[in-house]
Amino acid sequence: MKIVKLILKISGVCIALFAVLGFIYYLNYIKPFKAQMAKTMHVNFDMNLMIVHGGGGNSGLLLLDSMVLVIDSKMDEAAQELYKMATNIAEGKPIYLVNTHHHPDHVGGNQLYKGATIIAGGNYTEASWKQETGSTQLPTIWVKDSLVIETRTEKISIVNIPFVAHTESDLVVYLHNKKVLFTGDIVLNKQIPMILGSSTPMAYLDAFTYLSNRFELSTIVPGHGNMGSSKVFTDFKQYFLDMQEAKNNPNQKDNLIAKYETWTQLPFFMSPQATIRKF
Ligand SMILES: [Zn+2]
Repeated sequence: MKIVKLILKISGVCIALFAVLGFIYYLNYIKPFKAQMAKTMHVNFDMNLMIVHGGGGNSGLLLLDSMVLVIDSKMDEAAQELYKMATNIAEGKPIYLVNTHHHPDHVGGNQLYKGATIIAGGNYTEASWKQETGSTQLPTIWVKDSLVIETRTEKISIVNIPFVAHTESDLVVYLHNKKVLFTGDIVLNKQIPMILGSSTPMAYLDAFTYLSNRFELSTIVPGHGNMGSSKVFTDFKQYFLDMQEAKNNPNQKDNLIAKYETWTQLPFFMSPQATIRKF
């Protein structure tokens, strides 16, 4: 009986220790990360296109002659603000919502878009979508390859990335006349990626080659972080190349990791070490 009591005691101490460490991790990393993510910033690209940074993933609001296109629906209060802006500029025109992928920071506002056309990647199923997003409104169009929308003023390509990069069905949106690429979380600006499940760093590198072969990269709207020039794209690609080099050449590992110490990261999950482990 003594041994049982001892095991129970040790288990209790371990659980308490994990709870304390978890709380410290939350206060030091998750809470400031969430606070930073909740902030929003609007940038008018031109008369018809607004980029709404933050409040979840970055979003686009594009006014066309026959519709309003919204790219990613955000989460919480920012999702409601975005929806209000979309309905205000739509003035009765139909709203099309594109979800770049099924993570909550990009689809959290979907339930507001009742009756709208919702476009998502065709490698997801209704079941996998429901499992990931809970009660979020289901997409009405699943893009297996690509979908092109042509209006009087703009040609829009919505493309399903044929690699399991961030998720199994990442969409990007390219505005041909404005040369703007919305990448979802395939590209981040000064933020270390979280590489989950079956996604791999090699698939990210394949996706970068695919995108640079397919589109003229001029303005990049990443999933998180500020929009910018093609440098946003090349810097993020360089991060993956550096982490690949760190894996192959351990002598260089510390120097290569140090290049990214100012990028937003979360120890263990969203860190250079976690990326290197996935190569
Ligand atoms: Zn995201």
